[in-house]
Amino acid sequence: MPYAIDETHDQNLKSWVESANDPKSDFPIQNLPFVMFDDDSSSCSYIAVAIGDKVLNLHVLEEQGFFDEKTWDELSFYGCSLNGMANASYETRKRFRTRLQDLLKVDGCDDLRKCEFLDSVLKDRGQVKMTMPFEIGDYTDFYASLFHATNVGCMFRPDNPLLPNYKHIPIGYHGRASSIVPSGTSIKRPVGQQAPTEEGGSPGFGPCKLLDYEMEMGVVVGRGNELGEPVSIEDAEDHMLGLCILNDWSARDLQKWEYVPLGPFLAKNFASTVSPYIVTMEALAPFRCPAEERDASDPQPLPYMDSDANRKAGGFDIKVEVHIASAKMREQGMEPVHLSTANLKDMYWTLAQMITHHTVNGCNLQPGDLLGSGTISGPTRGARGSMLELTWDGDPFANPPISAPGTQRTPIVLPTGEERKFVGDGDEIIMKAYCEREGYRRIGFGECRGIIEPARTV
Ligand code: MN
Repeated sequence: MPYAIDETHDQNLKSWVESANDPKSDFPIQNLPFVMFDDDSSSCSYIAVAIGDKVLNLHVLEEQGFFDEKTWDELSFYGCSLNGMANASYETRKRFRTRLQDLLKVDGCDDLRKCEFLDSVLKDRGQVKMTMPFEIGDYTDFYASLFHATNVGCMFRPDNPLLPNYKHIPIGYHGRASSIVPSGTSIKRPVGQQAPTEEGGSPGFGPCKLLDYEMEMGVVVGRGNELGEPVSIEDAEDHMLGLCILNDWSARDLQKWEYVPLGPFLAKNFASTVSPYIVTMEALAPFRCPAEERDASDPQPLPYMDSDANRKAGGFDIKVEVHIASAKMREQGMEPVHLSTANLKDMYWTLAQMITHHTVNGCNLQPGDLLGSGTISGPTRGARGSMLELTWDGDPFANPPISAPGTQRTPIVLPTGEERKFVGDGDEIIMKAYCEREGYRRIGFGECRGIIEPARTV
């Protein structure tokens, strides 16, 4: 297990960047997630780490000789993305994390705090624009929550909610990297085909009527693997650089019509949103937990996806929250409404199992690839990670279950009196994620936001 808890996780570490010591901040000195930002001063975005309400520009620091050449070369930050650092060894990344902490902590090395260009290197987060942190080559989305799969299965296939492969294979599909956008990008409501309303009839065509979000976490792949060379379960985590929040926007009416027999296509590839902060595997070390324990009656994973280390610490204790604010709510200055809270630790498959399964046939992952966890839902109504599940008026394990999306749905009533069964035009969906554990400093993932714009006219 390379990601050990060490002195960089000490909860007593404080930064001279005061805002980082606010217990509510997502970005204390124990976190230091990587970001890219733009401030119009250069044609290329800058590589940075977030600390409190600031971003620390690593390019400028490097120019001023704050990092030793060996570490910087190995991290190979080049071009307009973080892809170069994906091949850096664990030791190099750890050395870099320790150095950053030394520059930022109280009673550390004072060189940075006292330097004359501090204003140009440490910028207010609010004054800069976060851009895509990685150039994503390939994107795969999984379906690893048994709660989500059962809920959706009950609606789409009431007689047969959970397909026989589910407990043997981490189910996934290959998504579209080109339409992944950073938090804050507006999303145009997609247009497409909808199932005929009567048997033998013609399909409908027009703006999506059942637009949804999916609350997920994304894994940024660090080191890749050679084509033909699978990644073992023991090595899987060595290929993960860090995690971000992912909103897998989903057009449910398009999905219902098109998903048989090859799975989602246009229902998913019009847009996905990621949070700009990549929280590293090193920072997440204190928040590891056992993989979800399977029911005694469930099959055990095949040996290639099973290991002691994965059982004991393959999980991540990360709380994930979804909030909504309609255009009217924002106009009236109302706070967003909380929709759900779930936890990544409740997933049926671990992230390591997903990587191992993805490559078992020899498929090669590459630095900067993005893997989505699948919608994170839990056992209770308040832990449902999509609107489809949340407004569904039924117990997920009821018998007989409710048959189709769009029927017998319980709308969410917003403080303006507006009702939502799915996401409306002008609505903003806000996702948050954070880790808390007694004895450790809370760390967070920032936010993943997107506002829905009306569809183009057809
Ligand atoms: Mn998804």
